[in-house]
Amino acid sequence: MRRFMARSPWVYHLNTGSCNGCDIEIIAALSPRYDAERAGVKLVGSPKLADIILVTGPVTKQMKERVINIVNQVPNPRAIVVVGVCGATTGVFDGAYSIDGPIDKFFPVDVYVTGCPPRPEAIVLGILKAAGKLAKGETGKRKEAAK
Ligand code: SF4
Repeated sequence: MRRFMARSPWVYHLNTGSCNGCDIEIIAALSPRYDAERAGVKLVGSPKLADIILVTGPVTKQMKERVINIVNQVPNPRAIVVVGVCGATTGVFDGAYSIDGPIDKFFPVDVYVTGCPPRPEAIVLGILKAAGKLAKGETGKRKEAAK
């Protein structure tokens, strides 16, 4: 079962309070120009169907409970890919009264795709790295930056 995840990872996109910059790049990565679908990546509309969750944003206080609820709906084994600096460190939102993140306070992150925002190619690479880790049963353990 796991080896199929590497070939056709289903991803769910979760915005935890980003500026939308990273989210636009995720859409670009899935669109025909960068075409993550050629690598088998499929965007799904429910966390219950996902293998990988793509997280953007610093986790606002308003979103915290929703984020925890949504991530917990992704069945195990699952991989978490953080897209953008805000998701990794809270970035430009650091120290703001409304921030309760980043997400690695609540869940182990498998792959960090750095950048503000990251390029679509880097996002596709991050998804494929996460899929590879899923196939090997290496998710939920340590941090890895996508280059
Ligand atoms: S990393 Fe940059 S583009 Fe992405 S949510 Fe933060 S400020 Fe916006």
